[in-house]
Amino acid sequence: MGITSGLRRTIAIARDRTSTICAGRTRSWGETADRVARIAGAFRALGVEDGDRVALLTLNSDRYIEFYLATPWAGAVIVPLNIRWSRAENADAIEDCGASLLIVDDAFAEMGRAIAAASGSQFALIYAGDGPAPEDMPHIEDLIRNHDPIPDAERSGDDLFGIFYTGGTTGRSKGVMLSHENIISNSLHSLAEGLFPDGTVYLHSAPMFHLADGAATFSLLMKGEPHVIVPSFTPEGVMKAIQEHKVTSALLVPTMIQMLVDHPAIGNYDLSSMKRIIYGAAPITEAVLDRATAKLPGVEFMQAYGMTELSPVATLLHPQEHVGESRAKGRHRSAGRAVIGCEVRIVDADDRPVPVGEVGEVVVRGRNVMMGYWERPEETAKAIVDGWMHTGDGARMDEDGFIYIVDRVKDMIISGGENVYSLEVENVVARHPDVAQCAVIGIPDEHWGEIVHAVVVPKSDARPTAEEIIAFCKQHIAGYKCPRSVEIRDEPLPMSGAGKILKRDLRKPYWEDRD
Ligand code: ATP
Ligand code: MG
Repeated sequence: MGITSGLRRTIAIARDRTSTICAGRTRSWGETADRVARIAGAFRALGVEDGDRVALLTLNSDRYIEFYLATPWAGAVIVPLNIRWSRAENADAIEDCGASLLIVDDAFAEMGRAIAAASGSQFALIYAGDGPAPEDMPHIEDLIRNHDPIPDAERSGDDLFGIFYTGGTTGRSKGVMLSHENIISNSLHSLAEGLFPDGTVYLHSAPMFHLADGAATFSLLMKGEPHVIVPSFTPEGVMKAIQEHKVTSALLVPTMIQMLVDHPAIGNYDLSSMKRIIYGAAPITEAVLDRATAKLPGVEFMQAYGMTELSPVATLLHPQEHVGESRAKGRHRSAGRAVIGCEVRIVDADDRPVPVGEVGEVVVRGRNVMMGYWERPEETAKAIVDGWMHTGDGARMDEDGFIYIVDRVKDMIISGGENVYSLEVENVVARHPDVAQCAVIGIPDEHWGEIVHAVVVPKSDARPTAEEIIAFCKQHIAGYKCPRSVEIRDEPLPMSGAGKILKRDLRKPYWEDRD
């Protein structure tokens, strides 16, 4: 099975149902399918051949979903690019994947032009914004009008569906090759777990280039459910869209949840249609989760843990596991259990499973494990051993299979021979009533090797001191885990395109040669 056979099925069962709502446009699945087959016709007319890469550099829109479908319909491979990357980073990715087509919108037309010129026009450009056609590139709406629908190329199974660049949180981003089977498997695992129940109206506000949000696209496609799309995340844009379109479900990364629930206008909107927030892609602190539950009482929370290389979901923490007896057991602090169709283990440096409760690396096996990194066979061989994807995340597992992510292996702090997991410290710092956001990193120290350092962004109007934060931590965790130094900063922490805190940027001033 492939992504486009999902679309063909959806047209059969839900032709007249709403597919997308975006920028005042509402389309049906029948219309979307017709546009997809015409866009594919246009791609072929522009010279796209089997297996060619089509790169996409746009904000979120209904057209994003059409390109996700039209690209395999034309027999090609989609490459969503990171909207927060600089021109040089996007140029590198376009060269890395050898794209033959680049699709841009108003926000990225200029960048696309500059990259094309610098590359000696190695690829064609298409404009997919809402303005008039620029002189130097065709407008997607003209292409749709002027091309007939073509038959589906019927890509499936091990055929390459897309190259998805990783978040670049820990170092240089890598192109992850995902097949049709990888994506379909992840969708089936998610649907089997009840991630998207009947009647879901899903809001895309997290960036769609990132697979965390993109994954919903394919699951909902198979059910023929509607997508509401805002160009990018803003707390008020999200609240408006929820109210106007009676949204029931969205994926939000922890920083977005924090911005939403701390927003002064949250009481001005009717958010009562909202039933479920899926959170994940980065660790959440208990303090933020508690604030969210208090401010959004009718909403159930579900956590997903995964990575681009896993198409992307590996484990889920269900709503009922956040409350009652599960909460009493502390399970709301876990990332849940392996999803149906996925195996998860915790192993030591020699790939042997560690005993229950001990920290090791999370490894995952299933049909959702990527085909490999694009043109990086050595890195692929290191990452996938005997079918097990090595995640680079440290965690422990309890006797019932719940996993507790403690840290990225690269972020663990070794201070005076003791392991300190930054997430544990962040959880404590975030509970301080004056703290809006925080990150904990290791910085070099002659005596201890590394010492624990916290970077804190206070809530507006609050002015905590370093001494207060340290004293607060001492009340809650062992001395060696407490920050030795605290930086209070007024500007937000550095974020990746997917909304993750870039600890390597925070570490940079302290370390000469560490990622
Ligand atoms: P790069 O691999 O380029 O450094 P990245 O790892 O951030 O970037 P992604 O594939 O977007 O790229 O993110 C996967 C990672 O995000 C996981 O390995 C894990 O560290 C983190 N993550 C995802 N979900 C969760 C979660 N629920 N809780 C804690 N961490 C999570
Ligand atoms: Mg990663």
